[in-house]
Amino acid sequence: MGKPFNRALTRLRKDFQLSIITLMGFFGVLGITPYAVYRFSQGNYPVGIADTIIVLSTLFAMGYAWQTGDTRKPGLFLVVVASLCATLIAIKLGINGLFWIYPLILLNFFMAPPLLALLATVAVLVALVIYARLMPGAVFESDYQMLSFIVTVMMASTLSFIFAQRARYQRKQLQSWATRDALTGARNRRVMDQELKVAVANKRRHDINSAVLVIDMDHFKQVNDRFGHAAGDQVLVSFVELTNRCFRHEDRLFRFGGEEFLLLLCNTNERGLRAAALQLQAQIAQHLKTPDGPVTASMGGAVLYTNERWQDWLQRADHQLYEAKRAGRNRIHIDTYQVPATA
Ligand code: GH3
Ligand code: MG
Ligand code: MG
Repeated sequence: MGKPFNRALTRLRKDFQLSIITLMGFFGVLGITPYAVYRFSQGNYPVGIADTIIVLSTLFAMGYAWQTGDTRKPGLFLVVVASLCATLIAIKLGINGLFWIYPLILLNFFMAPPLLALLATVAVLVALVIYARLMPGAVFESDYQMLSFIVTVMMASTLSFIFAQRARYQRKQLQSWATRDALTGARNRRVMDQELKVAVANKRRHDINSAVLVIDMDHFKQVNDRFGHAAGDQVLVSFVELTNRCFRHEDRLFRFGGEEFLLLLCNTNERGLRAAALQLQAQIAQHLKTPDGPVTASMGGAVLYTNERWQDWLQRADHQLYEAKRAGRNRIHIDTYQVPATA
């Protein structure tokens, strides 16, 4: 009992969208069910049915999100269902139903990307105004009331839109700060550990090959000493640019230490790894330069074995890098150790 509960709490803490969808589920059951019961008891079946649809939809969305881990689709589903039902309720109940449009605005901006949320809200407003023009007195008691409603809904939507856009921008920026190295824009060490773990899981579950190449600039201290730290920085930036240019989108480059990088290659065996390392070496020779001449790098590579820990995999590549340095630098060493067959 304790463990699943703690696991659920951890998921809620880590996944904001999931916690909002769950909250909607509780709101749906606790907040809207009494209204549904009341409407049915009053014989107001259309509104009772709309309330029931909202309750069931929030429960369905909540179940789907918990089951699959996907919060995007249930979020959009809730936006569509809640917008349609709120429109119907406002049409049927008039002023008493219009109050529901305000929490609907918040729900839309919590569940959908800002532009989509704004469009959904404006669509509800337009639908209500058109209906009110066709059936005078059905939704609003006067033109003055309708105008006040339009102005307040537009104000609430615009402010929510600005707030949501700003939150989105800040979230992206935070994500970038947390995952990228500030100087070069390469992924940082924290993400590297996570991605190596994913590669290990992919190998174990789906037998997908992965390879790593640890790259260390040769005599980089001398580059700094002779041309200054800024020139050294520029070499690191150029290295990341040229690596990003010549590798596939799914391959990932991480800044591992000061002038050490790790390239993670997906779906790559030993031959592929060797070819990639040679290609990178050629690119470095062609493009990476100081005013005095070319900068070189040493590389150590290893292909992941089944059931290998990511730390051991990394260590094998690191050991090859050490060997490449020892052998004179500007060279590539790939680990060729074969796992003994198990009986
Ligand atoms: P080796 O060929 O054995 O790797 O020699 P090295 O000089 O590259 O190795 P060492 O590890 O002794 O020195 C690494 C240097 O990299 C020292 C440090 O000043 C420099 N470095 C580390 N991070 C940065 C950085 O962000 N910018 C610059 N410009 N230099 C850096
Ligand atoms: Mg070095
Ligand atoms: Mg180093």
